[in-house]
Amino acid sequence: DRRAALDTVTGPGATADGHKVPLLANIGGPADVAAALRAGAEGIGLFRTEFLFLEGEGSGSAPSEEAQTAAYRQVLEAFPESRVVVRVLDAGADKPLPFLSPADEPNPALGVRGLRALLAHPAVLETQLRALGRAAEGLPVYLEVMAPMVADREDARAFADACRAAGLAAKAGAMVEVPAAALRARALLQEVEFLSLGTNDLAQYTFAADRQVGAVSRLQDPWQPALLDLVALAAEAAKAEGRSCGVCGEAAADPLLACVLTGLGVTSLSMGAAAIPYVRATLAKHTLAHCERAAAAARAADTAATAREAARAVLAGG
Ligand code: PEP
Ligand code: MG
Repeated sequence: DRRAALDTVTGPGATADGHKVPLLANIGGPADVAAALRAGAEGIGLFRTEFLFLEGEGSGSAPSEEAQTAAYRQVLEAFPESRVVVRVLDAGADKPLPFLSPADEPNPALGVRGLRALLAHPAVLETQLRALGRAAEGLPVYLEVMAPMVADREDARAFADACRAAGLAAKAGAMVEVPAAALRARALLQEVEFLSLGTNDLAQYTFAADRQVGAVSRLQDPWQPALLDLVALAAEAAKAEGRSCGVCGEAAADPLLACVLTGLGVTSLSMGAAAIPYVRATLAKHTLAHCERAAAAARAADTAATAREAARAVLAGG
């Protein structure tokens, strides 16, 4: 049956011809680690740390450095010799935190959210970076730390500077969630060491379509060719700079789209644990050249529906 067929494909994510695409898990905290391990995640591609803060007693203030260190260490200990990508606090808009988010913004999604809120509250960022450094001490783990909502090179530099100032022995990276960041990905990579595409917000900001408004969900479809164009730009820039560029938005959880993203040059895929076996099994059926042809066919389409259909047709053909 379907489940048995899935279980026959195990091990690291790779195309049929052996091109490796690490399959990582998105988590919100230590409670999600068991499911990630069960699904065979090769590491963590997105640790959404704001959930630790949202769940905190009353969430009127940030958890202490000690509480943060303990939570991060639990996650890092579960993935020895693996990549663990931690995102610093992404507060604001759909995830307001009273101690960080401005109370009255006319357009919270366009306001002081993500990295912007952290740069306005440097002590919160410093504490988090220190806690991450302490959590990783002595562990054989590849810790990477990334900032949400990086818009330009100045943002990327400010984040890299904060990581250096905290003495953090980890790679610093930028999420690509704002079209400007995709357009200037190469400039960002002069400041940070890796990129990770947050396709949920990238779709929201590319199409000016609020991700919380169902009436505009057509424009949130990650198969939209304009979104694929921006993914390609970022992936090509990373390749030119010899850096990695993953996807950690919902797009990575769609097995067909995962093949297309691979064809666009994305170097890792991070998703909710439940999707990992499906993505692994689908990727294993197709060669990299095949994924590249599917990606080109999708980008040549004019709508999300025809892009999906064009990719499906190419991938069905061999
Ligand atoms: C994204 O925007 O795609 C993303 C991964 O971050 P979040 O969904 O937490 O905003
Ligand atoms: Mg986001």
